[in-house]
Amino acid sequence: MQFRKSQTCTLCNRDIKFKYKPEKSWNITGYLCSDCHMKTTKEFFVKQQEEEELLIKKQNQCFICHNIIDEDKKKKARWQWRMENDIFLCEKCYDKKEQDYQTKIDFCVKCGKKIGFIRYNPKPKWKVDGQLCRKCWDAINAAQN
Ligand SMILES: [Zn+2]
Ligand SMILES: [Zn+2]
Ligand SMILES: [Zn+2]
Repeated sequence: MQFRKSQTCTLCNRDIKFKYKPEKSWNITGYLCSDCHMKTTKEFFVKQQEEEELLIKKQNQCFICHNIIDEDKKKKARWQWRMENDIFLCEKCYDKKEQDYQTKIDFCVKCGKKIGFIRYNPKPKWKVDGQLCRKCWDAINAAQN
């Protein structure tokens, strides 16, 4: 006696005459019939193209205002701004961001007072994003102890 389990297509459940192995990237187990294989190949091709287009768009688009930036006007975000990698900003947003950043490092985040030459960096455990003036630093430090 011979057992021959007939192979069915994972997607449409029809018996397969000629079985096709799905591509690894499709995340499909089992085998596909030729129709489904062809259809999935096409779908993934379109999806891949869309992803590529999106990537190209992302590389030409300002991360903040989403305007398309000319190649020679692209600006990379400064690492101090702690933004995502591989993003670009237009000149306007870059300048704004830079200004915000300068404001942030020149003024106390607590009271808004301009900080002098000596910087008081908050301790990491305070979870303060920015700089502090001496008075606020002392106040937080005292409160923490
Ligand atoms: Zn099928
Ligand atoms: Zn912009
Ligand atoms: Zn302060």
